[in-house]
Amino acid sequence: MELEQRLKELLDKEDFVVGEEMKYHTTFRVGGPARFFVTPKTESELKEILKLCEETDTSWFILGRGSNLLVSDSGFDGVVIHMQKHWNHYYTEGNRIFAQAGAMMSAVSQEAMRNGLTGLEFASGIPGTIGGGLRMNAGAYGGEMRQVVLSARVMDQNGTILELSKDELELGYRTSIIGKNGYIALSCVIELQPGDPQLIRSTMDEMNAKRREKQPLEYGSAGSTFKRPEGYFAGKLIQDAGLKGFSIGDAQVSEKHAGFVINRGNAKAADIMKLCKEVSDRVNTQFGVNLEMEVRRLGKFEEEK
Ligand SMILES: Cc1cc2nc3c(=O)[nH]c(=O)nc-3n(C[C@H](O)[C@H](O)[C@H](O)COP(=O)(O)OP(=O)(O)OC[C@H]3O[C@@H](n4cnc5c(N)ncnc54)[C@H](O)[C@@H]3O)c2cc1C
Repeated sequence: MELEQRLKELLDKEDFVVGEEMKYHTTFRVGGPARFFVTPKTESELKEILKLCEETDTSWFILGRGSNLLVSDSGFDGVVIHMQKHWNHYYTEGNRIFAQAGAMMSAVSQEAMRNGLTGLEFASGIPGTIGGGLRMNAGAYGGEMRQVVLSARVMDQNGTILELSKDELELGYRTSIIGKNGYIALSCVIELQPGDPQLIRSTMDEMNAKRREKQPLEYGSAGSTFKRPEGYFAGKLIQDAGLKGFSIGDAQVSEKHAGFVINRGNAKAADIMKLCKEVSDRVNTQFGVNLEMEVRRLGKFEEEK
């Protein structure tokens, strides 16, 4: 109650919601209520939220677009901090783009194209924010954030601001210092090369046509469900295990791309987790390869107890 009152006092009315259903904020379209759902406007509001959580021993979670996230059906008993709404500005100076963490990667890659800058084409079809992209070192078609990020501004859990260079960000395969240390990405500088806007556009068009052809974009999902195990492709292993189309409730291994678990309409987060566990167990039994989930989880799941 004390936390609720203090968050109410701190934030504008529309930036504070009790019991927001997380299914509206994830591309899987599943997830129960967040105890509190907040959208800070400034660094000082954000810092104050962290302080209030610390003082009341409350968990918090940073949300981008929720495109790599599975939230449990019972939701999250803590504070979800939403970055997409108020942190979505970006601008270009010379070869550099300055982007806030809540800006969509697709919008920033369009900005690059409009300014005749090449290097960010890979991000045009990744449906997440810059912050999520930094946290995950998102990548596609041979490109990844590591290749284009120059530096980032982050906040640590005590509210201290740090400016991190590309090396300090430790961007690796779907990992970063942001994830390891629980930092909050606030903004970053992306450095690109001059290029021909026509060529940039056609490269993006080709990549996005490939996505539409190969990926089940008509369904809710979180993209590739599992990380690529060294020396293998998760989708191929799942397909070879005979699991294409395998389903639990409305959660299904996509018929179009076995690397994607999809929500056919009314899947529960629990169905998705059960399916993922079953898929990784069967792949392990058949091929001795461990499939690790790429999708981040929030809230309580039976399988993880
Ligand atoms: C159809 C589809 C296709 C996809 N294709 C690709 C692809 O080609 N390549 C790829 O890499 N991914 C892909 N993804 C997955 C996803 O889009 C990326 O992982 C993306 O980077 C996640 O960004 P987000 O803003 O949605 O993060 P969220 O899902 O909101 O969060 C993911 C993680 O990042 C953290 N996070 C988010 N914002 C911040 C922040 N500001 N500071 C600190 N931590 C933060 C969260 O706490 C969480 O741990 C795809 C997903 C879908 C649905």
